Amino acid sequence: MNLRRLSLRSAATAALLACLAAAPAMQAPPPAPYTVLLPEGRQPLAVRVIGGQEMFALDELAKLFDLTVREDTLAGGLAISTKTQTIALTPGQGLASVGGRVISLPAPPARDGRAWFVPVDFVPRALGPALGTRLELRRPSRLIIGGDLRVPRIATQADPQPAGLRLTFNVAPATPHTVTQEGSRLVVKFDAHALDANLPASPSPELVPSIRAAETGAGIEIDLGPRFASFRAADAPGDRGAGRIVLDLVAAGETTAAKPVPEPAVDPPPLLELTPVTGLRTIVIDAGHGGDEHGARGPQGTLEKDVTLAVARRLKGAIEARLGARVILTRDGDQTVGLDERAAVANNNKADLFLSLHANASARPAASGAEVFYLSLADYGEEAQRAAQSSVPVPVLGGGVRDIEVIRWEMAQARHIDESAKFAGLVEGALRERVPMSVRALQQAPFRVLVGANMPAVLVEMGFISNPEQEKQLASEAFQGSLVQALLDSLVRFRDTRGGQEPLLPAGIGN
Ligand SMILES: [Zn+2]
Repeated sequence: MNLRRLSLRSAATAALLACLAAAPAMQAPPPAPYTVLLPEGRQPLAVRVIGGQEMFALDELAKLFDLTVREDTLAGGLAISTKTQTIALTPGQGLASVGGRVISLPAPPARDGRAWFVPVDFVPRALGPALGTRLELRRPSRLIIGGDLRVPRIATQADPQPAGLRLTFNVAPATPHTVTQEGSRLVVKFDAHALDANLPASPSPELVPSIRAAETGAGIEIDLGPRFASFRAADAPGDRGAGRIVLDLVAAGETTAAKPVPEPAVDPPPLLELTPVTGLRTIVIDAGHGGDEHGARGPQGTLEKDVTLAVARRLKGAIEARLGARVILTRDGDQTVGLDERAAVANNNKADLFLSLHANASARPAASGAEVFYLSLADYGEEAQRAAQSSVPVPVLGGGVRDIEVIRWEMAQARHIDESAKFAGLVEGALRERVPMSVRALQQAPFRVLVGANMPAVLVEMGFISNPEQEKQLASEAFQGSLVQALLDSLVRFRDTRGGQEPLLPAGIGN
């Protein structure tokens, strides 16, 4: 499919576009600058909103990262050079080329007078690879973190208790720390370069007047008020490599009267996510292919479209029975459904999750095992290139055109990549417990069906239908049951990470 012929198939897509287009007209206050944390120190980096996109001035990046920027007036492109690599940008194109690899950006570079601006995602996606280092962009906390700096994320919750106040710090990843009383404050010090912490106002000012980040070093300072009597600190493991610090602050006069404070391991306080998220209320299951599109065909004639529909139907039943979530299938029969229509079903129903089911095929009959994908345009492995659904001509700096397997980075999925990656990891882990996995079990690829999904979205290749043994498995009740159970487990685990919902039912489905 040619880039210019991408059509807007759904009202949801159109509405999303309209809302993006309206964004710059709303005159939001200027965005807060980012802070760049590098081994050499920290620097503020101003950001501007242009065309609804947060952008950095190329000149500022050049100063900060020692880059040379050259404008190719003849070809109309920009060449940004590090000591070893050059990034090519083309005005009007939301793409960058780094050492011949094409990387997608959410918007083209923008010009204001003589100054050029690039989307903030340019830093992790293009500049990091060109510098040969990791540059992590944490949009919610306005941070760019370079190299191997340790900057744990800390989500804090303050819960009033009968005896005083409980502060819970969820620290991801778990980081060595100390808790000490220094005069009229408690100090939690972390073995880290900096903290990425959200700290709430104290709900008990008499006990704790304020909670704030330490001015130097990676620490949190908790001021102690007139009612403070004593404290107790306990560590508990958090989820997925996170650590949890539970600080109980006991108020004067409450010590003897108060009920014993429950152990954190017995009564873990709910996690507070850095960004507000809801649970899983609506899940869209996409049975790949259908109708005229058979998908892959096994040596015995088993069709991918039949396997995906069978698993989708069973999974729907299992989710409804066990999670109480609403499940919508993109097709519940043997009909053809367009790739964009599938994401539109999810968008129109405001789904919290999109899960696309497929079966793989390879010219190598021995190829076997499940693979889990989430969207990428930055990785162009061979598998990903085969998986790409469209080819667009990309102008090359200095003139000429070449064909590259790429899909334009459209509006929706970019915002959910982190959550999609998290879900993909959980799916991979849950599948691994029950079915054979490919050597490349977790990958990113530019699957067209995921691009327009405005929610976390993952595609599962459940096995290789081209492999005679796996073809038999994929068609069997028992194997499909294992797949359903594993996918259900991953949904429960993902829902556990999102909170804000009624207690979970047990995950077993009894077959
Ligand atoms: Zn398929």
